[in-house]
Amino acid sequence: MNIEVKELSKIYGEGENRVVALNRASLRIGQGDFISIMGPSGSGKSTLLHLLSGLDRPTSGQLTYDGRNIYTLSDKELSAFRRRSIGFIFQQFNLLPVLTARENILMPLLLDGKQPDVGYLEQLSALLGIQERLAHLPHELSGGQQQRVAIARALVAKPDVIFADEPTGNLDSKSGGEVMELLKDVRERLEKTLVVITHDARIAAMADRKFTIVDGVLSEVTGR
Ligand code: ADP
Ligand code: MG
Repeated sequence: MNIEVKELSKIYGEGENRVVALNRASLRIGQGDFISIMGPSGSGKSTLLHLLSGLDRPTSGQLTYDGRNIYTLSDKELSAFRRRSIGFIFQQFNLLPVLTARENILMPLLLDGKQPDVGYLEQLSALLGIQERLAHLPHELSGGQQQRVAIARALVAKPDVIFADEPTGNLDSKSGGEVMELLKDVRERLEKTLVVITHDARIAAMADRKFTIVDGVLSEVTGR
């Protein structure tokens, strides 16, 4: 998928409470790109990722996936588009506590009325090293294992694009590094587009293209 972002802005509140969370962000994301976005807390990183993934709608600006303007879709159509084309990984994992790892992973398919591809689930579990953990509940797993389950869930519907919002932000530096290496590896093997938000310069440096965001202004880091 080719993603084209044109002058996306998001403004919250009015008058004294007005916050320009994102200020005319533009970029193109090609199929298979690995992009990192770094910025201080409150700079608009999550706002941008929520807009790119169709979790939220902008105040102004355009977003097209292969030429299709996704903000013209109804909420229902947009949800269906997201379920099929986009995987999202959250800092807090967002696993459902009463479901096993396997049930959590399969949830996006269930919501879409699709049959699980058992072979693909096995392949993902093996790639992520969670085969032995599938029958466990989230609280029986370490943070790193929970995030690996969440990565499998983001991939299970075979989306083209993965968005990750500080995926290692809740992990210690060792398991964070491991999770990021896995995510990078899985992305290469499965040929996915990956957009990662991070506070961690080491993670940002893994990407092919690096961006920063400061006070809602997005810029690509070029040169040395
Ligand atoms: P980051 O992810 O970089 O920490 P966010 O995108 O969450 O930053 O937030 C950017 C700015 O927008 C912040 O000033 C934040 O307070 C504000 N903001 C985010 N979401 C809302 C909201 N729903 N209502 C009002 N202001 C918001
Ligand atoms: Mg954030």
